Amino acid sequence: MYRRNIKHILIPLAVGLALVIGYNLFLKPALPPQTMQLAETVESAAPPPAPPRNRSIESESKSVRVLDQSVVPPTPHEALLEAIRDEIEKHNLSLAETKLKELPPAVLSDASTTPFVATLWNNLGLQQERLNGTQVSVKAFKRAADLDDSNPVILMNLAHAYWEQRDRGLNAEFLMKLMKVAPEEPFPHVAMADLLQEQDDLQEAAKHLEQAADRARQDPGLQSYLAAVTTKVRRTQSVESHMTARSSTHFVVKFDGEEDQSTWISVLEILEEAYREIGQKFGHFPSKPILVVLHAKDSFQGATGSPAWADGLYDPTRGRIQIPSQGATTDRKWLTSVLRHEYVHALLHDRLGASSGALPTWLNEGLAMQLAGDAWPELDQAMSGDIKVIPLTYLEGSWGALPASTSAVAYFEANSATRYLIERWGMARVDELLNALQAKSTIAAALQNKLFVSYEQFHRQWLESFERSRS
Ligand SMILES: [Zn+2]
Repeated sequence: MYRRNIKHILIPLAVGLALVIGYNLFLKPALPPQTMQLAETVESAAPPPAPPRNRSIESESKSVRVLDQSVVPPTPHEALLEAIRDEIEKHNLSLAETKLKELPPAVLSDASTTPFVATLWNNLGLQQERLNGTQVSVKAFKRAADLDDSNPVILMNLAHAYWEQRDRGLNAEFLMKLMKVAPEEPFPHVAMADLLQEQDDLQEAAKHLEQAADRARQDPGLQSYLAAVTTKVRRTQSVESHMTARSSTHFVVKFDGEEDQSTWISVLEILEEAYREIGQKFGHFPSKPILVVLHAKDSFQGATGSPAWADGLYDPTRGRIQIPSQGATTDRKWLTSVLRHEYVHALLHDRLGASSGALPTWLNEGLAMQLAGDAWPELDQAMSGDIKVIPLTYLEGSWGALPASTSAVAYFEANSATRYLIERWGMARVDELLNALQAKSTIAAALQNKLFVSYEQFHRQWLESFERSRS
């Protein structure tokens, strides 16, 4: 999220605080718990609603996930296949996997054996999933589907793993194939509606929801996911159906009311420039067009549920940058800052996919400020006095409940710590850090394993360099 005018918070803050930086704050609560409850906030990174649980698909009692592997096809490789099957049955999973990977090419090119090899990969995947989750099983199901993409059980298992991992493999092409192979399944229709909503094809999304609803009656486990996607599509339809849309190569911009040529030209120009420039700096480009919605001021808060002060936000649940159009027509500097800042949030969400929740808020905001190249001179100016440092560990979750003065410090620290991170280790190493977070590392483990520095050391070194820069 982005807030324009922070001066009125920062000036009293700079005057009022006369505290020195203390390293010992790192492990101690800097804020008594009650101050966290105050209402006014700068940036509320409202967490997306909890995703529908994996169970909702898995718990369907009717669904069969294991394939029969009792009869090994009679081929010259029969003994080899039988041995692998027995290893799977004995739960020697890594041995079974090694042997499957080492199968001679002749077995894999023989049409009479490939469906059986696919069955083995599928059943291996199920056992791996029970022990280590879909992060591991997705690879086995992918192998199975590569060998036999006409088996509905294999494709459903793969879809389930993709879905839980928020894997990009769960794309329109895959879902179309799944609908063809498993026409009675409601799941691919719900997932397709979810995808189409993000791509702004609300009409097609609604059609798939209807098809899913017809099929889902027998399938109570899927109801919560179906309901969540239906609500999302209807809400987007009610807010955006009357809007005008304009696209460039990488963006779709929607806005209220009368068509205003110059505004959307400006918006698309700013965004395309951000796409090129920030993409090069960061080494990542979004995997699909990014949707930007410009709301009339009076509808912005209602439509986005954002607080009165917010100037813009990136909504990860609905995959949209939302900003009020008021100001967009007159203040290009403001518009540029807001769009670039929110674009980085959208880009980070795309970069981390399913794991974007693992990104600590201080790093998310810090990267948004650093990569957008936003100077925020008011912030530096106001922070020139002594400040009370909030440990970064307290700035990992939502900032929605921080009091205003604290959140100004939070932005300042996020920017400063992230700048230190980039200047000291370089963007390529920061990228490795993001890879670790994507693989579900904590920030402490990611710093230790990728930058060889503990969270506490990082914190101390950043504050030391910060203090040097002020003296
Ligand atoms: Zn932000």
